Amino acid sequence: MTKAAEVIVIGGGIIGLSIALELRWRGLQVLVLTQDYQTAAANAAAGMLAPQAEEIPSGALLDLCTLSRSLYTDWTNKLTMATGLDTGYWECGILAPRYERPTDAQITWQSRAELVGHLPTDNLGTEVVGGYWFDTDGQVDNRALYKSIQVAAESAGVRVQTGVQVTAEDLQDLSQGVAGLVADRYILATGAWSQDLLPVPVVPRKGQLIALQVPHGEDLPLNTVLFGTEIYIVPRRDGRIVIGATSEDVGFATGNTAEGVQGLFDRAIRLCPALAKYPVVEEWWGFRPATPDELPILGYSADPRLILATGHYRNGILLAPATAQIIADLLFDQMHPLLLSCDYRRFMKQ
Ligand SMILES: Cc1cc2nc3c(=O)[nH]c(=O)nc-3n(C[C@H](O)[C@H](O)[C@H](O)COP(=O)(O)OP(=O)(O)OC[C@H]3O[C@@H](n4cnc5c(N)ncnc54)[C@H](O)[C@@H]3O)c2cc1C
Repeated sequence: MTKAAEVIVIGGGIIGLSIALELRWRGLQVLVLTQDYQTAAANAAAGMLAPQAEEIPSGALLDLCTLSRSLYTDWTNKLTMATGLDTGYWECGILAPRYERPTDAQITWQSRAELVGHLPTDNLGTEVVGGYWFDTDGQVDNRALYKSIQVAAESAGVRVQTGVQVTAEDLQDLSQGVAGLVADRYILATGAWSQDLLPVPVVPRKGQLIALQVPHGEDLPLNTVLFGTEIYIVPRRDGRIVIGATSEDVGFATGNTAEGVQGLFDRAIRLCPALAKYPVVEEWWGFRPATPDELPILGYSADPRLILATGHYRNGILLAPATAQIIADLLFDQMHPLLLSCDYRRFMKQ
């Protein structure tokens, strides 16, 4: 059978495309098969790079997130060099205001006055008593980043076929290829839809978001992300303010709901009343690929020709560069130590 590529990546979300691009940069011929770019969670996300603000406990997930955050400056610079496109990467820090001071906090508490010192003006709601400042967290404009990866991948010579729906049947006999296309290795990166193809415990966790727009010429009310309780506010440098997100166990139910959107507006305005006056420019939703322990599934499947890269849940934008590097290393026979924790077989233990 004629070989279509050395590697076929199934799924063209941020994870699949980042891996495809990294492999191409390392000299392999890569073909991506994907339904589309539109449904990818990278279009829906908020783009926070927030291992500290998310308060991820120490362990493999925090190690992976911290590794990935450390790669972000070089990775986004490389993408911009390759494409001329800005990714909106911004080491703006993340402020986590609270309405009560927890008694058992492990993190250094800052008073309300100290928190306000990180902002251009005192834009915090009157109920905020203090909180935390995470200076190494930040953000990227996930849509701009995803676009830059698409452009970089295609200009580097990654071939992409859209409109292809790979089925579980297509993965039954890899010696016959996938959807009739043969490669040496296959990578499954189908995000929240992964269970359609393999029995991996990845389920959709819906998130709804809204965006406001600061009028042209006006100063941003915030110069850092606000990460509250069940709410975050992400100001972009272009004046867009992304507000998210719900976390709903409703399968692939599409659309925004009145309750979801109302909750976002209420919590955002309570945290930062200055937002109330800005026009609403967009409402949308997306599906996070959730695993039971919130760690992604990375590494070999039962068939070593098929490698898994899915289940990045709420941190897939953050985890894209580390995932690309670790999976590319694996194809060159280098096992990153974190792969042990991310192996799918952890779910088969008692
Ligand atoms: C509301 C929300 C907010 C978020 N906020 C953040 C954040 O602030 N920071 C952060 O780091 N992460 C965030 N995330 C998480 C992040 O967006 C995801 O973890 C990440 O985008 C997942 O990428 P992926 O490539 O694995 O999956 P996806 O983006 O879902 O891509 C999967 C791709 O596979 C394709 N596909 C699916 N099935 C098939 C098939 N059978 N055949 C062919 N192609 C198929 C789809 O068309 C899609 O293009 C957020 C996500 C959501 C939904």
